[in-house]
Amino acid sequence: MPSHSLSNPDPGSDLRPGPAPAASVAPVASVAPAAPAAAAEWAAGPAAEPAGGGRVLVVAGTHGNEINAPWLLDHWRRQPERWQCGGLALELVIGNPAARAAGRRYLDRDLNRSFDPARLAAAADRCVEVERARQLLARHGPSGCEPCLVALDLHSTTAAMGNSLVVYGRRPADLALAAAVQAQLGLPVYLHEADARETGYLVERWPCGLVIEVGPVPQSLLQPAIVTQTRIAVETVLLCLTAAASGRLRLPPRLVVHRHLGSLDLPRQGDGSAAALLHPQRQGRDWQPLQPGQPLFVDAEGRSQPYVPPAGLEGRTVWPVFVNEAAYGEKGIALSLTARELWECPSLWGEALARLAVRLLPAGS
Ligand SMILES: [Zn+2]
Repeated sequence: MPSHSLSNPDPGSDLRPGPAPAASVAPVASVAPAAPAAAAEWAAGPAAEPAGGGRVLVVAGTHGNEINAPWLLDHWRRQPERWQCGGLALELVIGNPAARAAGRRYLDRDLNRSFDPARLAAAADRCVEVERARQLLARHGPSGCEPCLVALDLHSTTAAMGNSLVVYGRRPADLALAAAVQAQLGLPVYLHEADARETGYLVERWPCGLVIEVGPVPQSLLQPAIVTQTRIAVETVLLCLTAAASGRLRLPPRLVVHRHLGSLDLPRQGDGSAAALLHPQRQGRDWQPLQPGQPLFVDAEGRSQPYVPPAGLEGRTVWPVFVNEAAYGEKGIALSLTARELWECPSLWGEALARLAVRLLPAGS
């Protein structure tokens, strides 16, 4: 039986066989490609960042049909004194208000894939979400008129991800913040990197940023447990930032990372329709190991199709995430595969976060 093909256009970059023992994996500073010169103004850069008085941007509703976090933000705005924000100055923003009004994920294109510097710099691109991305950066970007240094982007998912964090690339401040929150709440961390097919995430344009991803919840449905989990994660991130700003944050010795390897689509027929569905034994089992030969798909006759590792992953256990996420069908993603790794937290992570967080204190303090 042929192996499942991995929808990662550059498998050589992150499917190296036989990675180093987990505890000795050495994170590098960054894997983000250099921004083209013409797009430099859209890239987060230290030169134009404020010396003090920086804010934390909290974005909900980047996807218009993920309605729990926007509901939370609406209430937060009305009664800010009820929230624990550690004294930080916040900007509470609805990411895609037009899509929220329409009850859709997006109108023209996915806003959370619209923050590529090159796309933002392409003046001819006037679609709703690219314009919105430019607007958010002009106002709340690190060199915007109301500058923010940290971005928290709040999402929900139809997948059983629980309360989790997504980090894009290996920026030390992001990893420090994720490690600090994991130490407090035990949240799983998904490291998304080296996937040229999925780029342009919002948080990448701020000097530090995390996605908080909570599920399972259907699209356009409010559920108190999702709201509560979102609130706990946001408040914990803010308290960790406050501790970092005051020099009180102590990182745990290690961070458990689920490192992105690539994504698998459903088996398809010639006309593009699904030839098989996700196997019921795999539904709802995000963060749980998948071994070669275990049932992964099932066809209309009820025949199971086992997981056959893609090239480069032969014989390896993987940990799926975003399993059967409803919004990813159009992207050709039935699930993403990760490697579960234990990383040391080097002191430079904490130092990077502290240098950034201290600029969240009021100017002149
Ligand atoms: Zn989302």
